[in-house]
Amino acid sequence: MESSGHFGFSATVTYVMVWLANYFGISISWRDGAVLILGSAFLASLPDIDIRLRRIGFRHRGFTHTIWFALLLGALTYLSLSYLSREGIELPITPILAALTVMVAIITHIAADALNHQRVRPLTPLSDVGIALHLFRSSNRAANSGFFLIGLSLVVIYFYGLGRADIVVEAALAGVAAVAGLAAVTDRVGGH
Ligand SMILES: [Zn+2]
Repeated sequence: MESSGHFGFSATVTYVMVWLANYFGISISWRDGAVLILGSAFLASLPDIDIRLRRIGFRHRGFTHTIWFALLLGALTYLSLSYLSREGIELPITPILAALTVMVAIITHIAADALNHQRVRPLTPLSDVGIALHLFRSSNRAANSGFFLIGLSLVVIYFYGLGRADIVVEAALAGVAAVAGLAAVTDRVGGH
């Protein structure tokens, strides 16, 4: 998936996560929810840094597309922000929320890539199990712009406080299903 698609996919998944958490009584403040949704949407393309790092030996969809990378970056974020706050620097967000946001960004990126043809192996080297749902190519325009539009709409809805209406979650899920279906069809019609 391209960065626009990753932005939208991560925004959608985190929007639904925040909504579900509140629904099941795990109360997440509006501000923490906003950090989680916007933060993971903007960081969602982080794992694709491996494309730029090919020259120094990184394989695309390799280490940066694993659970270990998510844990490593989450731990580094937590430790460095905790250090800063112990040094008396006032942070706008808690270290745990920042770490969670980074991890969610990476995990939702891997999930989005799993919709394409090239396998992701999120547990490698512990397990070589690979996931590729073969729904559409990562460059599919319908998928990238569709996910982007849904994600962006949810961000706007969240910021305007319209998300309390239950229908938004169902609409988001239906939208994601529709975009994935449409992308799968255009991929096949496109003859690739
Ligand atoms: Zn990727």
